[in-house]
Amino acid sequence: MSVDVVTFGCRLNAFESEVIAREAERAGLTDTIVINSCAVTNEAVAQARQSIRRLKRERPGARIVVTGCAAQTQAQTFAEMAEVDRVVGNDDKMRGETWRATRAALDVGGSEKIAVADIMAVREMAPHLLQGFAKGLPRVFVPVQNGCDHRCTFCIIPYGRGNSRSVPMGAVVDQVRALAERGYAEIVLTGVDLTSYGADLPGAPKLGMLTKQVLRHVPEVKRLRISSIDSIEVDRDLLDVIAADARLMPHLHLSLQSGDDLILKRMKRRHSRKDAVAFCAQVRRLRPDIALGADIIAGFPTESEAMFMRSQELVEECGLTFLHVFPYSPRPGTPAARMPQVRGEAIKQRARRLRATGEAALQRRLVSETGSTRQVLIESATQGRTEHFLPVAINGEVPGVVLTLAIIGHDGTRLISNCHRPA
Ligand code: SF4
Repeated sequence: MSVDVVTFGCRLNAFESEVIAREAERAGLTDTIVINSCAVTNEAVAQARQSIRRLKRERPGARIVVTGCAAQTQAQTFAEMAEVDRVVGNDDKMRGETWRATRAALDVGGSEKIAVADIMAVREMAPHLLQGFAKGLPRVFVPVQNGCDHRCTFCIIPYGRGNSRSVPMGAVVDQVRALAERGYAEIVLTGVDLTSYGADLPGAPKLGMLTKQVLRHVPEVKRLRISSIDSIEVDRDLLDVIAADARLMPHLHLSLQSGDDLILKRMKRRHSRKDAVAFCAQVRRLRPDIALGADIIAGFPTESEAMFMRSQELVEECGLTFLHVFPYSPRPGTPAARMPQVRGEAIKQRARRLRATGEAALQRRLVSETGSTRQVLIESATQGRTEHFLPVAINGEVPGVVLTLAIIGHDGTRLISNCHRPA
């Protein structure tokens, strides 16, 4: 029995799980389950603990190793679980020697459970060249940046991933080329605070320069996407690419978090409501068909009904299509957890209302797509996504191919195309 990696959380974790599987196998670990955890909400941490208990019941002989952001920020909590054999740090998990040491420790038994280094001491992001993804995904993620130098008051991520660090541009180009040559139709540049890319590299190249370099040096790339960005940190080069290069997909996801300036201040965000609205208008001038999405927190401490309504109104004012709504979840050790909290029921209710606003916004976009022709990446036998990241109902196509489809309608949540009527 080999090594099974169970992945929670973000795209960065998805990529890192591929590296963990490779390095743990190379170290000769067998009959081992690695939990690559997430700490972004209390719920995410609870899910990792539940999975550990369930997996140990299902495979009593297997060794269980926990890593990821929850292991980094709550190592002792996991070490105290009888089911857990080893807790590995979030940077340590990417090193071959960590897995060789883990094998030795597990084979000997009785040694120190916790192998978690100080994540704030990590200065570099070692590139890991992957030739492919185990699951044969139609879309693959390439981490170019990790960690974060900001300290938003609600966020635990910097304590799980450390300060910002970037992969040198040449290594990113090599990784993207390796995946594009393997036929992956869509590649997503990803990170924790993507727009701080390069600040730690010689010459401090920005995300825009990186994107230009990738598109210039890898003509095989058909569809390049960038994951969530901080609109206030977007550089001139990136705006140029958004305007000029059709291979950069016309879809941006923004970390907006709130529509109220006082709440943004209490979150220690770097933008104002006016900045957010202005940025969305600017990119829409550069790329009129662009689709915009955003993360918004419902029920941040001290948020009044009036402040919440400003988040509601922001959806239309920014012309958002996709909304990721996060009911506020106090993270132990963050400043916001010590602020006056909004009642739990009010948080749930606001999240519900915001999601409804988001669904209505998506509907408006789906309606406006009817009559268009779109390049659709087939994700599975039943679904594809357009260049604007809009879901399209598909019937029996091969994942990984890009088809030119005429959009003839929608079913309320997905587009319908001319040649593939849902069953
Ligand atoms: S920018 Fe803020 S929300 Fe994003 S990872 Fe950094 S601290 Fe967290």
